[in-house]
Amino acid sequence: MPVDPWGRRVDYLRLSVTDRCNFRCAYCLPPAFADFAPSEEVLSDKELVRLVSVFAGMGFRRLRVTGGEPLVRPGITGLMSEFSRLSGLEDVSLSTNGSLLAGLAGALRRAGLKRVNISMDTLDPARFAGITRNGRFADAWAGVEASLAAGLSPVKLNIVVARGFNEGEIPDFVELTKTRPLHVRFIELMPMGETGFFSEERRVPLEEMLCLAGPLEPVRPEAAPEGAGPARVYRRPGAVGTVGFITAMSCGFCDACNRVRLTACGMLHPCLDDSAGVDLRGPLRAGAGGPELRALVAGALSRKPEGHRMLERAAAGGNPRFMCQTGG
Ligand code: SAM
Ligand code: SF4
Repeated sequence: MPVDPWGRRVDYLRLSVTDRCNFRCAYCLPPAFADFAPSEEVLSDKELVRLVSVFAGMGFRRLRVTGGEPLVRPGITGLMSEFSRLSGLEDVSLSTNGSLLAGLAGALRRAGLKRVNISMDTLDPARFAGITRNGRFADAWAGVEASLAAGLSPVKLNIVVARGFNEGEIPDFVELTKTRPLHVRFIELMPMGETGFFSEERRVPLEEMLCLAGPLEPVRPEAAPEGAGPARVYRRPGAVGTVGFITAMSCGFCDACNRVRLTACGMLHPCLDDSAGVDLRGPLRAGAGGPELRALVAGALSRKPEGHRMLERAAAGGNPRFMCQTGG
């Protein structure tokens, strides 16, 4: 298994299959954003499968397909099926905004998908339309129900928490876990891209989220739902689902980092906060073989930083890349 210079085992690839999205979430993209990569710059299905197989051959065991919105990529079900069949990968998962999931959950399950994370920042339809700028809550919720019905497990709900917007809904999300097998994950707001949304005042730190969540008991790592990664996982006593916190800004998130990110255009970023990246598309299109591609991945890993510098960056305007460009 690959190990970085800080002794962390890195076996988790987060792959953006498109930078495009049918939403414009206020913390992720500006309202009129249209500066998406031209289609010829985006990796083809064949190129994506080839690169993922290089990672799998190096000991990467887990793949998360993300974006942009991965379900807007044509042929996504077939692509997921190819990823699921790659030898060496033990876990293939998906992050989605849920809007197109109701019609695809069954097909994705049959294609080998086992679990899913759905972004759902609010349970209020008007607020949902506001934060996503054009999304319908009913569509995303239908995606949640279809995922449960299709047997995807665990089904996690990702909630980016922003003061003045949805921190008051934290107890409602925790309540959902009491009777439904849903695993809610409260995500601390991060300064990604010039969206104009991030501010220190809007960021709700871990201690405050914990207070708002009410009584919770810690869940041992071996009892946490699959793919807990750097999330701190808790449970409301007696609840079916769990409650997690992903707090990249507040606390020692980087100690447990096990991941790298590959963009839809083939740039490999060893850290969410990395801006340079290592280009895999150029060498791939120039005919690079497995050893050359593996050496490029190993080189990127060798410069994986010990920790991100997002707090310092926040003071200076944030990371210049939008989350949908890096792959969330
Ligand atoms: N479109 C899919 C979705 O929304 O789940 C996948 C891509 S999205 C970029 C992946 C995750 O990044 C989502 O959970 C989203 O809420 C999160 N995200 C985007 N911008 C963020 C920010 N500025 N701070 C924290 N999380 C962010
Ligand atoms: Fe699209 Fe996901 Fe970004 Fe929202 S968070 S704009 S759904 S990529």
